[in-house]
Amino acid sequence: MLKVDEGIKHLHSCGAKVTSQRIAIMKSLEGRDDHPSAEKIFLELKPHYPTLSIATVYSTAQLLAQASMIRILSIYEKKVFFDPDTTPHAHFMCTSCKKVIDLRTDFELKARIDLDSGIHSIDSTEVFHYGLCSLCANS
Ligand SMILES: [Zn+2]
Ligand SMILES: [Zn+2]
Repeated sequence: MLKVDEGIKHLHSCGAKVTSQRIAIMKSLEGRDDHPSAEKIFLELKPHYPTLSIATVYSTAQLLAQASMIRILSIYEKKVFFDPDTTPHAHFMCTSCKKVIDLRTDFELKARIDLDSGIHSIDSTEVFHYGLCSLCANS
């Protein structure tokens, strides 16, 4: 889970500059329950930070993801989505409107590892489901 003050500490600890733009990016991600794309964050902040670049949004998100403060979802090859909720959950994407929705699954997200599989441990799991959202299905 992203907390702005912890994010600032983390940026300091990796020697990254803590700028007002980076703080604004963290503030806009903190506590969000949607999955904003990099473009969405950029467009939301651009009016307040005219010199903001999309590269700053990406680099800030990458630093936060390295510290497991956010997740970067590769659910769609044409867009990068951010998720401030780092607890284990799966995702659904509507193939029509590209909306991303959290999906709590009742199957065990942790895979059973066979002794002879050559796998020692699993640190993270991504589960993506694709289909139609109810809005698109009814239109
Ligand atoms: Zn849809
Ligand atoms: Zn999510």
